[in-house]
Amino acid sequence: MNDTAVLKFGGTSVKSIARIQHVCRIVESLSQSRPVVVVVSAMGDTTDYLLKLARQVSSSPDKRELDLLLSTGEQISIALTAMTLRQMGVRALSFTGGQVGIFTENVHNKARIVDINGDVIERALADGRVVVVAGFQGVNEKGDITTLGRGGSDTTAVALAVSLGAGVCDIYTDVDGIYTADPNVISGARLLSRISYGEVLEMARLGAQVIHPRAVELARRYGIKLRVRNTFHPEMEGTTIDQGENMEIFRTVSGVAIDKDQACVAIMDVPDQPGIAARITQALCEENIVIDMIMQSFHPTIGLNNITFTVNDSDLDQTINSLSALKDELRAREVLADPDIAKVSLIGAGLVGQPTIPAKLFGVLGANGINIKMISSSEMKITCVVARQQADRAAALIHQAFELDAVCDTRA
Ligand code: ASP
Ligand code: MG
Repeated sequence: MNDTAVLKFGGTSVKSIARIQHVCRIVESLSQSRPVVVVVSAMGDTTDYLLKLARQVSSSPDKRELDLLLSTGEQISIALTAMTLRQMGVRALSFTGGQVGIFTENVHNKARIVDINGDVIERALADGRVVVVAGFQGVNEKGDITTLGRGGSDTTAVALAVSLGAGVCDIYTDVDGIYTADPNVISGARLLSRISYGEVLEMARLGAQVIHPRAVELARRYGIKLRVRNTFHPEMEGTTIDQGENMEIFRTVSGVAIDKDQACVAIMDVPDQPGIAARITQALCEENIVIDMIMQSFHPTIGLNNITFTVNDSDLDQTINSLSALKDELRAREVLADPDIAKVSLIGAGLVGQPTIPAKLFGVLGANGINIKMISSSEMKITCVVARQQADRAAALIHQAFELDAVCDTRA
């Protein structure tokens, strides 16, 4: 481990020139004492805007061309950030993902990083430069630009921290850190000073927007300590994410997450025989669609099953298309979809083996007339699918029932 600082600034932190100047002041002051690598996202909603343009051309734009387009957002940010730093007298150099040897697999739009050739950055750092790198992008073996999937700049930052041997990666965003729930939705939400990789991974997967799950996974695998900090309050410590020993004993539940970007899909009356679930998941896998909360009900007598799962709602149309194409082959009755759902999840390292927790969770929803459409649970979470318009209320009720507004956050 060395003392290279790896800082990532999200889209809201570099939304305007004034904000870039603010970010550059943080970078400048840190660069007086340590080598600094800065990763930036596209300015504000640039990526959404670029996607919208592409969708005006085609409902399913060519994936290679789309990556070329989307990667330009971060290219704007790095150039402006490096220019601003130079204007302030800091010897900065900006690079695209490809320029700093971020190699990805041969997949467009959701590529994973395979390897980083750290030479370019290391040489620049050795030359006393502040290095500014475009998040969210890499290059495949053909030399084509790839992108890492929405929110991928966090992953870029952690991957660079790994490759440079930095022990810590700071993710600067527009909130103070990780809370027990989204403070914009739940007024009693509390800031957590420390949380384990496992819990934050569940939170991020289940809809908390602070940090990208792939980045947390990578950090966990390589033991990189993450800090989520507020760009606009850089004096605050933020939330530290690490291994969190004895987290179960310390705190049973850590938060409630809401994910409204979800849709539910069901393929009805498929034969109850080997290979059906495999065929369905293979078809979706070919389209790179991530499915979650997969359920198959137990109907021992009728010889038919319903297979139900959730997808991100941006994948809903493609999912329906793929399943509809399979319907005849599988002799299924129909494909149903519910686009207006949300997942509400309770997360905690200490959930496992505590029967009072599901009873209390379902109890509070039932008592308040909130219908649960699907349930799934694992070691660190219990997720309920509810109607989207009831999600905020459900989360607030759960937050209150588990006394998360009074969560103990002091640690020896
Ligand atoms: N600009 C990309 C996005 O909006 C990547 C990122 O911000 O992390 O998804
Ligand atoms: Mg973004």
